[in-house]
Amino acid sequence: MIETDILIIGAGPTGLFTVFEAGLLKLRCHLIDSLPLPGGQLTEIYPKKPIYDIPGYPEVLAGDLVHNLMKQIEPFKPGFTLGERAETIEKLEDGRFKLTSSKGTEHIASVIAIAGGLGCFEPRKPPISNIASFEDRGVEYIVKDPEMYRGKKIVIAGGGDSALDWTIFLADVASELTLVHRRSDFRGAPDSADKVLELTESGKIKLLTQSQVTGLQGNGILKGVEITHDEQGLITLDTDHFIPLFGLSPKLGPIADWGLQIDKNAIIINTLDYSTNVPGYTPLVISIPIPVN
Ligand SMILES: Cc1cc2nc3c(=O)[nH]c(=O)nc-3n(C[C@H](O)[C@H](O)[C@H](O)COP(=O)(O)OP(=O)(O)OC[C@H]3O[C@@H](n4cnc5c(N)ncnc54)[C@H](O)[C@@H]3O)c2cc1C
Repeated sequence: MIETDILIIGAGPTGLFTVFEAGLLKLRCHLIDSLPLPGGQLTEIYPKKPIYDIPGYPEVLAGDLVHNLMKQIEPFKPGFTLGERAETIEKLEDGRFKLTSSKGTEHIASVIAIAGGLGCFEPRKPPISNIASFEDRGVEYIVKDPEMYRGKKIVIAGGGDSALDWTIFLADVASELTLVHRRSDFRGAPDSADKVLELTESGKIKLLTQSQVTGLQGNGILKGVEITHDEQGLITLDTDHFIPLFGLSPKLGPIADWGLQIDKNAIIINTLDYSTNVPGYTPLVISIPIPVN
């Protein structure tokens, strides 16, 4: 059971800076985020992209901005529950709130600040009928710990930056790596695409273009993938892991179920005090959208 003054849902830049402001008022904060690392979209989607519209920074990489925010809040010693989604909120008799995460972790706080951005990022999943039964049993949509692939056979699918970057990185970690992509050109950075082609030519990895993973084999644990090639038809590959990297899309998720007034995926608030519509159950809502460049 985690107890704090302010429980912040969302460890993106808004949630992180909330810790600083609350810290000035001597309030303790704990953050919960469904992603495995703090930083929200900046860490998850564009850590290497330069940002030009932050006051005081003519230019800063998204990853560096998150690093600086973490440094700025360090003195206030915030707690983190990462890799868990804020699922349910109930009001306790003493007026505080109890928030339970997707993994059952309980948090108690007097105030809940919702800094959930566009919502939880959920992976775009390929349309393979039995894929759910292999999730965390050989199928992963996010690479959390590259070491778990050491010496393993892996199949990565996708043609964007994530698929290319992880292919390059894991080429030295996996015993066998196959990249499957449905087109013959890549959406990701041309330099990364060139590196993947070099790795293919040197025999370090296998590349199957104009192909899609259409089936999964195994009895409870993944053992192989079925790949449909546009011209060659069905190809079967033994594998320990299948990592489809087709991007993440935000879903409002449980925030929509907390009785809050919502319009076009945004929580309606009173801008005088940022309170929500729910009387006696009024999480402080902080939502400071940073404009897209
Ligand atoms: C490609 C791209 C480039 C961009 N470039 C710029 C730029 O140059 N300049 C700029 O100003 N802005 C830019 N933006 C926009 C900027 O990233 C967002 O405005 C910013 O991330 C919003 O910050 P936030 O903390 O409010 O939300 P987010 O960064 O979205 O963080 C919200 C967090 O809340 C978590 N969350 C939501 N619901 C739950 C739940 N129920 N349980 C647990 N966790 C939950 C999510 O997992 C997420 O980590 C860009 C966006 C993109 C996609």
